[in-house]
Amino acid sequence: MTGFLPRSDVLPWGRIPRTHTRIARPSFRDELDGLIADGSDAPNHLLASGLRRSYGDSCINGGGAMIDMTGLDHFVSFDRSTGLLVAEAGVSLADVLKLVIPAGYFLPVTPGTKFVTLGGAVAHDVHGKNHHRAGTIGRWIRQLDLMRTDGVERSLSREDTTGAFAATIGGLGLTGVITRVTLELMPVASSNMDVQTIPFRNLSEFFALAAESETTYDYTVAWVDCLAKGSTLGRGIFTRARHGGDGQLRVHPAAGPSVPLDAPGFLLNRLSLTAFNEIYYRFAGRRRRTTISYHPFFYPLDVVGSWNRLYGRRGFYQYQSVVPPANAEPATAEMLRTIAETGQGSFLAVLKTFGDVPSPGLLSFPMMGTTLALDFANRGPSTLSLLDKLDAIVREAGGRLYPAKDGRLPSAMFQAGYPALERFRPHIDHGMSSTFWRRMNL
Ligand SMILES: Cc1cc2nc3c(=O)[nH]c(=O)nc-3n(C[C@H](O)[C@H](O)[C@H](O)COP(=O)(O)OP(=O)(O)OC[C@H]3O[C@@H](n4cnc5c(N)ncnc54)[C@H](O)[C@@H]3O)c2cc1C
Repeated sequence: MTGFLPRSDVLPWGRIPRTHTRIARPSFRDELDGLIADGSDAPNHLLASGLRRSYGDSCINGGGAMIDMTGLDHFVSFDRSTGLLVAEAGVSLADVLKLVIPAGYFLPVTPGTKFVTLGGAVAHDVHGKNHHRAGTIGRWIRQLDLMRTDGVERSLSREDTTGAFAATIGGLGLTGVITRVTLELMPVASSNMDVQTIPFRNLSEFFALAAESETTYDYTVAWVDCLAKGSTLGRGIFTRARHGGDGQLRVHPAAGPSVPLDAPGFLLNRLSLTAFNEIYYRFAGRRRRTTISYHPFFYPLDVVGSWNRLYGRRGFYQYQSVVPPANAEPATAEMLRTIAETGQGSFLAVLKTFGDVPSPGLLSFPMMGTTLALDFANRGPSTLSLLDKLDAIVREAGGRLYPAKDGRLPSAMFQAGYPALERFRPHIDHGMSSTFWRRMNL
């Protein structure tokens, strides 16, 4: 029987903040009752976690207890005729792909890494490059099993009328421990992707390409040069894609090497950022069509394990906003201008339009509009001051920030961005908590 290990160092993906937590990693479902009872009584209560690919403090519970669900990773059933998958919540998307690709299925929605568990994907109601078509993953969840800290396990289906299903989708792990997930998969004719890349010179061109592509392409996304200023402001590379039709159904081989040590802090300085952005725009940005495996298309960062260590010991902040369509172009331009002025650019600046597909979770992040995701090396007060400026732009534009990405999202900003918060509250399990939730102080 697994118990809690005392005071382990537990970090989110952005490696800020560093906390100590009592953590347990059960391998069997019948270990959960005891752990949940024990953990929920602890000071700061209990949180379940997956692969801790959330960048900020939503996946940690400093000073409290955590159940690492990655040992509960058994498949329950997979119906090859309907594409319905039932699995424990600790199963990773990487393992789902290994099972389902040879049978001609793919994830209906995938984030930009496959190292995410089903439970973690549900609790943040993750989105992917096909949001304009498929919406969030929550739309493809048929049923969830949820264990509350009073020991009661409930099956919640999407027909649920109590609000508990909608609260658990995107519910930040605060409604209980998700033990099992039933997911509808998507049939595909190939594991390859037909991909087209098109450079754009400014944001107007980006918005025109997005509008033109959303009706005919399943996937759209753009890289934007966030150090470009003046006449080149908002330049980038637009990518649009569809699943191929060549009948090949191959699982991509395992990941490559890992970053073994924390990189020195100066590695990602202004000079290297400027050079990267310039080179990438010039050489990767030629208009072209290719057919490639799903892996480099969906998961380019998974090729290097622990790439987050490249940001050094001080870690980094992710910042992901969405602003409604009416304000999208001016707000995005203002954010890019503000970032370029400080020189604290990001390698991974991703711009995408979300479609008019309602998210099923009360606290789901996606809404119709334009989302911008950025990484910033942590340089202390200067980085926080830049993020405050970006907050002001997002708030003024009627937007919101993504708690999965942001380890410093201010409570006022969270409250303003999530109007269903009051409807969510009655579904909170008071034996559950997180560093994020206590910081929100709600
Ligand atoms: C390279 C990279 C790219 C990414 N791209 C995207 C993207 O394109 N779109 C997107 O939406 N997100 C993206 N993300 C964020 C990531 O998909 C989410 O943070 C996801 O929730 C992480 O899942 P996880 O298994 O690591 O869960 P964790 O990070 O460990 O936990 C996330 C949340 O889920 C809760 N949780 C986990 N398991 C359970 C459970 N069994 N029961 C109850 N609650 C649980 C935790 O309490 C926490 O609140 C990306 C992250 C990385 C590192």
